[in-house]
Amino acid sequence: MKLVTSYNKNFKIDYFDKSKDLLIIAGPCSVESEEQMDEIAKNLVECGVHYIRGAIYKPRTSPYSFQGLQEEGYEILKKIKQKYPIKIVSEIVNSNDIEKYNEFVDIIQIGARNMQNFELLKAVGMVDKPVLLKRGFGNTIEELLNAAEYIMANGNENIILCERGIKTFEHYTRNTLDISSVPVVQKLTNIPIIVDPSHASGRSDLVLPLARAAVAAGANGVMIEVHPSPKESISDADQAISISEFKKLIDQIMYIKSLLR
Ligand code: PEP
Ligand code: MN
Repeated sequence: MKLVTSYNKNFKIDYFDKSKDLLIIAGPCSVESEEQMDEIAKNLVECGVHYIRGAIYKPRTSPYSFQGLQEEGYEILKKIKQKYPIKIVSEIVNSNDIEKYNEFVDIIQIGARNMQNFELLKAVGMVDKPVLLKRGFGNTIEELLNAAEYIMANGNENIILCERGIKTFEHYTRNTLDISSVPVVQKLTNIPIIVDPSHASGRSDLVLPLARAAVAAGANGVMIEVHPSPKESISDADQAISISEFKKLIDQIMYIKSLLR
C-alpha cells in the first residue's frame, strides 16, 4: 500500500514554495456577482495574493439556502481570470463537473462535507490539478490522511490539506479550530496544510487572531473569507471580513512568518 508519508515527488503549486512561502487563498464564500469578484480580485492582486476563492456550487446545510450561481458563476470566474493575474480556487461537488473545472479552476477544492465522498476523491485523483482537501468537521486526522490517500492512489500527488475546525460541545464558535492538526500532519506527512479560520470560528472578529495562531503554529498558509461588504454576504456573512481587515491580516501573518525563518 502506498502511504501518504511517501508523498511529495511531484508536488508543484504555482507561487508556492513550501519551504518558504505561505499559500494565501482569499475571497468570498460564494461568487455573487461580477462586480463583487472584480473588487476582491483587484485588491488581492494589489496585496500580492495569487489565489482567489469563490464557490459556484454551495453544499448548504439547508436545501432552502442559496445554492450558488452555478452556470452563471463559471462565466464570472472565467472573466476574472482573464482580467487579472490571479488563480482560481473553487469547490467541486459533482464529479461530472470535472471537465468544466479543468478548463479554468487552478486548485480544485473538496469541501468538508465531501471529505469522504470517495468517488469524488477518486475522480479528482485522476486530474492533473492541485486539490485542496478540507477536513470534515466530524473527521479525525487519520481519516483526513486516508482521504488524501484516495486522491494520491489515483495518481494525483498535488494535494493541500485544510484544517477548518471540527464539531465540539463549544457553542461560542461555529466549530473548534484544531490547531494541533497542523504540527501533527506535518509530523506524519510532507503534505502542506493550511488553516481556514473563517469556517473554524464562524466569527469575523476571530479570523485575525486564529490566522495569527495558525501561522505561528507553522501552517503552510491560510484561506480567508473576504467580502467588499461583509454584512451583505449572501452566505456566511457572520464570518466574512472586509478588504481593509484582510490587508491588516496579511501584514500581521507575514510578520509572524518572517519571525519563524
Ligand atoms: C468553503 O470553504 O466554502 C466551505 C464550504 O467550507 P467547508 O467545506 O470547510 O465547510
Ligand atoms: Mn463559507
